[in-house]
Amino acid sequence: MVANVISAPGSVFFAAPAIDAQKAVYEFTIPANKPWSGVVEKGQILRIIDIEGQQAVDTLFYNALDTSERYSAQDTILTQGGPYVTTGTRLISNAGNVLGVVVADSCGRHDTSAGACSCEANTARFGHHTRYMHACRENFLIEVSKHDMTKRDIVPNINFFMNVPIEPDGSLAIVDGVSKPGDYVDILASMDILVVISNCPQVNNPCNGFNPTAVKVLIFDPSIA
Ligand SMILES: [Zn+2]
Repeated sequence: MVANVISAPGSVFFAAPAIDAQKAVYEFTIPANKPWSGVVEKGQILRIIDIEGQQAVDTLFYNALDTSERYSAQDTILTQGGPYVTTGTRLISNAGNVLGVVVADSCGRHDTSAGACSCEANTARFGHHTRYMHACRENFLIEVSKHDMTKRDIVPNINFFMNVPIEPDGSLAIVDGVSKPGDYVDILASMDILVVISNCPQVNNPCNGFNPTAVKVLIFDPSIA
């Protein structure tokens, strides 16, 4: 099979490895509202599938060998000269290295400006009655604690499949998601990366269509024929 040659603004040309969806070396369905984490080795591809559509998947990336190096939304945006994540986006670390590259994207737009929901933010935005609700920041805390990290290691994240248009005045809008059932995004790991996901439980704005649903993660290894 011939690899697809892909280009995007701010990216270099590269060939996306061809993958066979039947040959994943790892597969896990993250239930609605739940977290997940796992290591994707250099050269492997992480696929995240929005099974039912309109689900926000809050995601963090760390250098698996030294988690003090982690995803930097600011450097990623600066490097590509644009705020949205899609095919061709290089995920840049706080050390200026490439953690991974988005090599396929059937949705077309992902956010990395709006951050993750928290109990505190919910209270400020939606009222004190939402204080008890489970939030992405709690999911992240649960998951990073498995890897000897704490609150201070949670940084601004990517919201895969979340639709956050930036308005002409610079404000962020959270509007209905554009992802369809089965939409997916593929990230080719440029180093061994630890991936931490919160399958967003938010029900107070349209980021999940007011109905959090399960998503699936797959890992492919193109070096295995
Ligand atoms: Zn959330």
